[in-house]
Amino acid sequence: MRLPALLSLAVLLAASPVQAQQALAEVERAIVPVAIWGGTPADPSKARRHTIKQVTLHHQGEPFLPGTDPQAYLRRLQTWSRTSKGWLDIPYHYVIDLDGKVYAARPIGFAGDTNTEYDPAGHALIEVVGNFEEVEPNQRQLDAVVDVMAMLAKKYGVSLDDIRSHRDHSDKTVCPGANLYRYMKEEYFRHKVALRLAGEQARASQ
Ligand SMILES: [Zn+2]
Repeated sequence: MRLPALLSLAVLLAASPVQAQQALAEVERAIVPVAIWGGTPADPSKARRHTIKQVTLHHQGEPFLPGTDPQAYLRRLQTWSRTSKGWLDIPYHYVIDLDGKVYAARPIGFAGDTNTEYDPAGHALIEVVGNFEEVEPNQRQLDAVVDVMAMLAKKYGVSLDDIRSHRDHSDKTVCPGANLYRYMKEEYFRHKVALRLAGEQARASQ
């Protein structure tokens, strides 16, 4: 191989880890707004306002079959949250579908809700569709979890230690399911988030 070709290959290999990553600002811009999926805004007069200090991962806890319309699921979830549970809105701030697409749910400035005993104030809540006691998360979902966690960590200054899952805060749940929790326990998410944040720093100093 001629030297210039070798050099360009070296440049390509060195540059690709950062360039392959979406900038975190782009991650935020790609989030599907509530109005687009057909949701209605939460009533701000009933909201409990909070400041984000932690990121907490959840699963849906029910099977999400391929072919299910995620926007219809979100509309049903919003209606159920308000009418059956009497909550302000969907309990989570972001929902990730089977394709790794991210949807805005409850406004991030409003504290979430839960069926278990922990207080979700201060937590940015991410839900991944599916029941990970039964199925494995797919790679697009895992990538999207990293995207959203990293975006939130950067925006709110959340430390890696404060990125956890529902069952880390409550003994009363297996959420986010054994097959998703494994990625938390084995530090997959924290490791990937750390790389993303380092990539952002490199991007900023370019
Ligand atoms: Zn949960």
